[in-house]
Amino acid sequence: MKDYDLLIVGAGPVGCVVAERAATLKGWSSLIIDKRDHIAGNCYDRHHESGVLIHQYGPHYFRTNDKNLLDYLGQFTGWIPGNYEVKSFTNGEYFPFPINLLTLEQFFKRSFTAEEAEAFLNEIRIPNDNIQNSEEFVLSRVGKEMYEAFYLGYTLKQWDMHPTELNKSVCGRIPIRFNRDIRYVDHAYQFTPDKGFTAMFTRMIDNPLIDVQLETDFEEIRHQFKPLKATLYSGPVDAYFDFKFGKLPWRSLEFTFTEYDQEFIQPCVQINYPNDNAYTRSVEIKHVTAQKTKNTVVSYEESRAEGDPYYPIPATENAELYQRYKVLADEENKKNKVYFSGRLARYTYINTDEAIEMALSTINDIIRDAEA
Ligand code: UDP
Repeated sequence: MKDYDLLIVGAGPVGCVVAERAATLKGWSSLIIDKRDHIAGNCYDRHHESGVLIHQYGPHYFRTNDKNLLDYLGQFTGWIPGNYEVKSFTNGEYFPFPINLLTLEQFFKRSFTAEEAEAFLNEIRIPNDNIQNSEEFVLSRVGKEMYEAFYLGYTLKQWDMHPTELNKSVCGRIPIRFNRDIRYVDHAYQFTPDKGFTAMFTRMIDNPLIDVQLETDFEEIRHQFKPLKATLYSGPVDAYFDFKFGKLPWRSLEFTFTEYDQEFIQPCVQINYPNDNAYTRSVEIKHVTAQKTKNTVVSYEESRAEGDPYYPIPATENAELYQRYKVLADEENKKNKVYFSGRLARYTYINTDEAIEMALSTINDIIRDAEA
């Protein structure tokens, strides 16, 4: 096998960004391997048999607060506005979600100004100045009735764990608003790649210094091939160490894609089902991709204990187990110049923009160490 400066394990956002930066900033070559038959990791989008562009591994609503990050990615894609609107189907009605003034008005069947809503929630919320978990977090913001309508059932389905067992950061991902902003997230820049994520990452790594080898397991090559400068590992950290301390728990997903012979079937991209159906949410990604087709495809998402790792599970005992692997990862970094980066390698529930920021920081570390 020819010499490469970097071996990159995983062709997801982290692997692609590290390869691109290494080539552009330093003229370094990379071999990227991935066990799947495509690049882009869980951001992968593709045309479904019906011609509709789908997000194969669940919806990716790209957003960031960092203009520099947007500009960096903008070298590889154009952008369209991020049309990220979600409704929650509960108590037999569709509510705007996250909870905002419109949700409160529909739920409590009265009108609210922002001040009235705050005063009202102050009466029904359960104050807590030492919030330990997701249940306490939500109860302290919106009280029991809305917790049970919007959060409890969804969280049980998604994680197969009670919100009391999950860090507050899980339900804390969802904003609660005292205005009529119905967007799913708060970030300053909410944009989607105009030709999709796969196209963006394909362009990013379209460089003579970067080779990609798909359907290749790290286990097949880890003992045969050593890169000249460093290895970037973005796979699950427990797998790297052969599950030495036991398996880190991951949550997986199963998607059922259904085609419909009409332009749109849902009022917005995502509908959450806290208390109905086996699936957690239905996603009609066409609302976001802005593709023009006569038909549409909806994906129904069910949570699974087994399968590809999608979500680390934010609970104390898992963080402790991860810390044991992190000690090994730090040693491996010093001894063999292996850098662990990304959601799977760091066992952290981050979004795409945060993964890319992590990758940018990791390539800086790799360059700094190589030049030390
Ligand atoms: N959540 C909920 N009800 C909802 C949506 C989310 O209780 O209608 C909780 C649930 O525990 C979920 C977490 O908030 O796992 C984060 O939701 P988000 O939509 O950010 O999850 P992701 O898109 O990353 O799956």
